Amino acid sequence: MSNSEGEEQTQKAFGWAAQDPSGILSPFHFTRRVNGDDDITMKILYCGICHTDLHFIRDDFGFGVHPIVPGHEIVGVVTQVGCNVEKFKIGDKVGVGCLVGSCGACESCEQDFETYCPKVEFTYTMFDDGTGKKNYGGYSDIFVVNEHFAVRLPENLPLDATAPLLCAGSTVYSPMKYYGLDKSGKHLGVVGLGGLGHVAVKFGKALGMKVTVISTSPSKKKEATERFGADSFLVSKDSDQMKAAVSTMDGIIDTVSASHPIEPLLDLLKPQGKLVVLGVSERAIELPIFPLLRGRKLVGGSGVGGMKETQEMIDFAGKHNIVADIEVISMDYVNTAMERLARGDIRYRFVIDVANTLNV
Ligand code: NAP
Ligand code: ZN
Repeated sequence: MSNSEGEEQTQKAFGWAAQDPSGILSPFHFTRRVNGDDDITMKILYCGICHTDLHFIRDDFGFGVHPIVPGHEIVGVVTQVGCNVEKFKIGDKVGVGCLVGSCGACESCEQDFETYCPKVEFTYTMFDDGTGKKNYGGYSDIFVVNEHFAVRLPENLPLDATAPLLCAGSTVYSPMKYYGLDKSGKHLGVVGLGGLGHVAVKFGKALGMKVTVISTSPSKKKEATERFGADSFLVSKDSDQMKAAVSTMDGIIDTVSASHPIEPLLDLLKPQGKLVVLGVSERAIELPIFPLLRGRKLVGGSGVGGMKETQEMIDFAGKHNIVADIEVISMDYVNTAMERLARGDIRYRFVIDVANTLNV
C-alpha cells in the first residue's frame, strides 16, 4: 500500500509550495505519479489549512524537508480509477487526509491503525525517511492516491466545510474512541478552541457528553457555548475558574499549538482521568509526577485516525450533521491566511477554494 509505486511514469501537477523556512508559499510546478491499478486520481476542489501545515512550512521542528506543498484536508472529485479500484468511480466526491501509504502487513496495519505503521507515508513529506521519496499535499490541482487511503463523503455535508474533518475531525475522533472518551454522560475537557478543538466539542456533544472548553480567549465563550453547544467555558488564565473545576473531568483533549503548562490540566481531571495531547510544540512537556501518582492519571498522545476510523468518523459526522466552521479563501490569500492563523485570527478553519482559484 504505497503512494509511490510506479514512480517512473509521471504527470504534471501544479500547486503552491514553501521553498524554505520563511514559509512563504508561491506557485510551484512538480510531478505526480500516473494513476496505477489500485489508484484513483482526483481533481482537488477544497483543501483545509491545518496548523500542522504552518508548523512545517516554517520548519518549527527543524526537519528541513522543503520544498513543501502542504495540505492534508483534501476534498475532490474522482477523475480516473485504476483497474483494481472497487470503492470509487469517476465523478465520486472523495476525501484524503494525512495518510497515503503504509506497509499493510504490520501489527498496526492489521489493526487498522496505519498511522503507527513504521512505514507510514504522509500526504506531504514531513520527515526525511532516507528513501528520497517526496510527497506533495493538497494545495494543488490534482492528487493520485491508492484507494485504500481515500474516504467516501456523506452526500448531505457541504464539501468545503467537510474538508477539515479529514485531519482535524479524524485527529480528535480517534483518541476519543481509543481512550474511551466517547461515553454519554462523561465529562470531556477540550483545551484550545481552534480547528481541532471546535470539532472536538461538536463530536463530544453529538456523543452525549458534557463538554467544557478550556481556552485562553474569553472572546470565544459565546460561540463555544451557544454555537457549538459546550456546557461550560473556562478561561485557563483565570485561576479562580480553574480552581472551581478541579477534579471534575473524565478526560481532556489538548489541542494547543504551542508550549503551555500541563499541571493545571491534570488538576482538572478526576482520579483515573486521561489527558490526551494532540497539539505539537517544539518544547518538551514538563510532566509533574505527583498529580499522576496520586490520581492514577494518564497522559497519552494520539495521531490522526487510521483509514477505517476516518471513514467511521466521517459517516458519524454525516449522520449528526457535523462540519467545521470555515472561512473559504482563494489560493492567493494563503500567505495572509497563514499570518492570521499564527496569531489565532480565524474562526475556526481556513479552507482554500482550490478548484476555482488555483490558476497556473
Ligand atoms: P489552531 O486552529 O491554531 O488552534 C490551536 C488553538 O490553541 C488556538 O485556537 C488557541 O485556542 C490555542 N492556543 C494557541 N496558542 C496558544 C498558547 N500559546 N497557549 C495556549 N493556547 C494556545 O490549530 P489546529 O489546526 O487546531 O492544530 C492544533 C495543534 O494540533 C497544532 O499544533 C497542530 O500541529 C496539531 N495537530 C496534531 C495532529 C496529530 O496528529 N496529533 C493533527 C493535526 C494537528 P484558544 O484561543 O481557545 O486558547
Ligand atoms: Zn492536520
